[in-house]
Amino acid sequence: MYLKILSIGILVTSCYYGDLLLNLNSSHGVLLRAITDNLVHGSLAVIIWLLGYMSHVECCHNDAKSRDNVGNGLAKHTVVILQSVACGIVCCAVDLDHFIAAGSLNLQDALHAPYRGVLHNSVLLIALLMCYYYKPRSSLVLLSVAISSHQLRDGIRRGLSFSPLYSSPPLPYKLYLFLMCAVMLSFRHFLPTSNRTIHKHPAFKNV
Ligand SMILES: [Zn+2]
Repeated sequence: MYLKILSIGILVTSCYYGDLLLNLNSSHGVLLRAITDNLVHGSLAVIIWLLGYMSHVECCHNDAKSRDNVGNGLAKHTVVILQSVACGIVCCAVDLDHFIAAGSLNLQDALHAPYRGVLHNSVLLIALLMCYYYKPRSSLVLLSVAISSHQLRDGIRRGLSFSPLYSSPPLPYKLYLFLMCAVMLSFRHFLPTSNRTIHKHPAFKNV
């Protein structure tokens, strides 16, 4: 429980200071602002994936089976770190959508693209959920976390797009924070069972 509260605190603080950093950079040119914005997207996706796991760490007892779990857990830590980096990269890559929609590699053109591309369309998340329903895979969960965290953050300024049916108004900031925390605390439950848990060494069972 403490880990979950701590994770929520870290994520909310990161979201807030990420946007603050972006506002500080607003007077330093379009390119720097675009890079900062993209890096904040990626960083938040990494944080969500890492904290989503760390807030569910389970403690082992001091027996042989549990020591095995700790050993497996160490290997799994590496996998989780690599997954979090992949989640961050996918989240950053979503912004390539602007260039595709603009049909140009020019940043100004991309910023004024005539429409929002498919990666910024929340119908894509529904499609991913449907794919997951028929074939549950960790990769689909990772894609969903990366894309949903990106779309939610963009949603503060532009709302969520369910093109061609509906576009929501800009998301209230508190709703955005709530949904980001919900993604962080829930995605692990959609992972295949063997990937859900990393175990904590018995020496740290009270931490
Ligand atoms: Zn975007």
